[in-house]
Amino acid sequence: MAKTTSWETVMGLEVHVELATKTKIFCSCTTEFGGDPNTHCCPVCTGMPGVLPSLNRQVVNYAVKAGLATNCTITQYNKFDRKNYFYPDLPKAYQVSQLYLPICRNGGIEIEAEGGGKKIIGIHEIHMEEDAGKLVHDPWTDSTMVDYNRCGVPLIEIVSEPDFRSANEVIRYLEKLKAILQFIGVSDCKMQEGSLRADINLSVRPVGSDKFGTRTEMKNMNSFKAIARAINGESKRQIEVLEEGGVVKQETRRWDDNKDASFAMRSKEDAQDYKYFPEPDLIPIEISDEFIENTRNSLPELPEAKRQRYVSELGLSEYDAAQITSSKYLVALFEENLAAGYPAKEIANWIMGEVMRMLSDSGKEPEEMGFEYKYLGALIGMVQKNEITRNTAKKVFKSVFEEGCDPVKYVEENNLKTVTDTGAVKAAIEEVVAANQKSVDEYKSGKEKALQYLIGQSMRALRGKADPQTVTAILKEILG
Ligand SMILES: [Zn+2]
Repeated sequence: MAKTTSWETVMGLEVHVELATKTKIFCSCTTEFGGDPNTHCCPVCTGMPGVLPSLNRQVVNYAVKAGLATNCTITQYNKFDRKNYFYPDLPKAYQVSQLYLPICRNGGIEIEAEGGGKKIIGIHEIHMEEDAGKLVHDPWTDSTMVDYNRCGVPLIEIVSEPDFRSANEVIRYLEKLKAILQFIGVSDCKMQEGSLRADINLSVRPVGSDKFGTRTEMKNMNSFKAIARAINGESKRQIEVLEEGGVVKQETRRWDDNKDASFAMRSKEDAQDYKYFPEPDLIPIEISDEFIENTRNSLPELPEAKRQRYVSELGLSEYDAAQITSSKYLVALFEENLAAGYPAKEIANWIMGEVMRMLSDSGKEPEEMGFEYKYLGALIGMVQKNEITRNTAKKVFKSVFEEGCDPVKYVEENNLKTVTDTGAVKAAIEEVVAANQKSVDEYKSGKEKALQYLIGQSMRALRGKADPQTVTAILKEILG
């Protein structure tokens, strides 16, 4: 029998992020998503002859912010290059990018490693470039049309070192990167709109080998779930090829999430195929020490620092702190209610419980939470003041989450306030006791279960609006 080899998957990521500038990188067209085809463009971004680009300063500012937030060194003298290739969505037949002197280098982000502990994923570089347009395939007329609205939208490409060993590590890195970029406000990172998309370079090698295998590339992945499936699928495919004695070809492959398989698209190009040369229409960018320091000072508290502070100062668990700081929007929900004076632990419990559950049930991302954040605090407040029970609060939160309704009004209108009139509670319980003589006898003969039944019946009679502890106390008193 042949000796079985164990394999290791090695991956590097190229992440493209659309920057949240109002206008494009080299002209003043809007970067707004959507719009009728070819309405957000001008002679510059559609590459008409004789036009000249003029660099949007905000792009440099955002790229420096992203670099500092991911521990990069800023290249104080950097410049643009032309990457030459023809494709119908690229009207100039070249993309303005940075090859020789990218704006940021040698950074890194710390993640939880597969199998425990922490590890740093190295960032090789971050460079600025322009996005291409979009091809729209029309199956009805069997034709392809081109929309240049996205042409010239500013991008940063964040190139990692080949430091990933599992799909989990890739997802953790992407989640962390997304949170950082959202916190510093350089991108909305809406994956469904393509604002954050990842190319995955993947190869496999026998465990223990330090030589890289031949890699394939899967481009433009914009869903975490699809990325995890694509990594596992492609890794398995390469191992099968090698175990059958074949060779992995260096190529670009398209992951088809519906078919759960990847397909070869084209053989992979190397940098030399693009005939890069320095962009003659743009002068080099010089970044002063002062600019870097000012930018560094303008950065908000980053997710990692927040996470540590939530644990050390607010007493949250490591897990809760990590989950909440994974999203700018969960942090906003947490901090707004903390500032309003509600206890940190209680807010965190609600976020980790009901908020996460509703997000997962509805398939929504935290940025899609449509309710006013202060409503969560209002609910917590009503529970604290015993105005509603915890169970009622959970039910009300569902309506807050789904319809954005004001919980205080909702409780009033639906008559959900806890019955605090002990006379009314007592009367309801007496009726239950009278109607359930058998359970009363069982309880008196020592069956604890019968008490639970009577509590349940009493809560039901009070439509859940009484405090269970009060009900239990009164019930015991009546039963003697
Ligand atoms: Zn334009």
